[in-house]
Amino acid sequence: ATSSDQLPAFGQRHVTKGVGRLTDRVMTKGEGSYVQFEDGHRMLDFSCGIGVTNLGHCHPKVSQAAADQCMNLVHSQCSISFHSTYLRLIEKLLPMMPDPSLDSFFLWNSGSEAVEASIKMARFITGKQNIISMQGAYHGRTYGAMAVTKSKTAYSEGFMPLMPGVYGTAFPYWHQLGVPKDTSEEELVRLSLYQLELVLQQQTAPKDTAAIIIEPVIGEGGYVPAPHAFLRGLREICDKHDILLIVDEVQSGFGRTGRVFNIEYSGVRPDMMLMAKGLANGFPLSAVVSRKELTDMLKPGSMGGTYAGNAVSCAAGIAVAQAFKEENILANVNARSEELFSALNKLSEDPAIKSTIVDVRGQGLMVGVEFASSSYNKYDVALQPSAPKGMAARVAKKCIEKGMLILTTSVYEVVRFIPPLNISQEDLKKGIDIFAESVKEVVA
Ligand code: PMP
Repeated sequence: ATSSDQLPAFGQRHVTKGVGRLTDRVMTKGEGSYVQFEDGHRMLDFSCGIGVTNLGHCHPKVSQAAADQCMNLVHSQCSISFHSTYLRLIEKLLPMMPDPSLDSFFLWNSGSEAVEASIKMARFITGKQNIISMQGAYHGRTYGAMAVTKSKTAYSEGFMPLMPGVYGTAFPYWHQLGVPKDTSEEELVRLSLYQLELVLQQQTAPKDTAAIIIEPVIGEGGYVPAPHAFLRGLREICDKHDILLIVDEVQSGFGRTGRVFNIEYSGVRPDMMLMAKGLANGFPLSAVVSRKELTDMLKPGSMGGTYAGNAVSCAAGIAVAQAFKEENILANVNARSEELFSALNKLSEDPAIKSTIVDVRGQGLMVGVEFASSSYNKYDVALQPSAPKGMAARVAKKCIEKGMLILTTSVYEVVRFIPPLNISQEDLKKGIDIFAESVKEVVA
């Protein structure tokens, strides 16, 4: 057998190079807000496996529910029969939906699959073909999901052609529009709705457009919340033209931003909502929820998948929903969020870091810190020629050296905070201190 210290080399030799990694350490254990590696090294986890283990690693009740389910029924198959955890999960989720009209579920395994399913449904239900997605959006890595993803060409480079019939439009983020950072929200909304209207006039007619898909907080595009007026504008345009509005809450959902779903803040009603990640706290499970009147138009047998709505994942999902009821998760998110924002805003004003932090934004515990940049696109008015290069990656690397897993996001210089939703005040402070020290050391 390969010795423990040789495992990273074994991984480099035998795991496809197409998978990138933050660290070559070998993870063996997760417990609450911490992870442990083969070499005994322990780290504070501010990545949550990209916003998945939101209730901490191995939440005892979630793990227990999954273990119990393993002894009862591991696999059913949604095309063979109903199974009880599938239905009990839906029963738990119904009252958590942002709008009571969202009452018809299709369960799958990953976020990408939920995106694929929603595209299929939108095309079939509307009888139209085209989908509009946002510049900067991330929806996954399968061909349809990759087609609506517009955050980085790194995901699609060399893999073309993607699914046809997809058009991009501007997300109301100043970099995406190439306007100064202090542009008012009202102006950002006007500019991006104007761009969308142009897309409908010049590229894909409303008559050919089945759906608009949007993350209410753009994730891999920089952790930027969409202004409510923009979401309301989308709703209006969709209503006017019989276009479906698909809201992707895969990353922003399940308490991440302080409400169960981010879309609740704007009061906008999606026609379809997608969830995954936090839904089962690490077990593969995703869902498309829509209205029965829409999904009744689908033909039986047209949706499915061998593992879709796996019984063990559903049992974990039930325990997650139960934890939201019993463990004051949202109250913790909001309390910790205030502390996080206040500490990061204070840090951004610290003369020791020489104004390198240009923005602290997000909602709840989905927070992006953007550094000044000198490099991404010479036409961007927000560039600062004297800014140090590659700040976000250097800061994240430094945090890892100091014992905290943290991720960057987008083509811009952004570090993202996605700590566990039930993180303690003490661990949050520890993470903030590691981050602050790292920024200071990188700037020095
Ligand atoms: N949508 C969003 C908003 C996401 O953040 C992600 C994953 N980062 C996906 C879809 C794709 O999910 P998965 O990786 O489970 O396929």
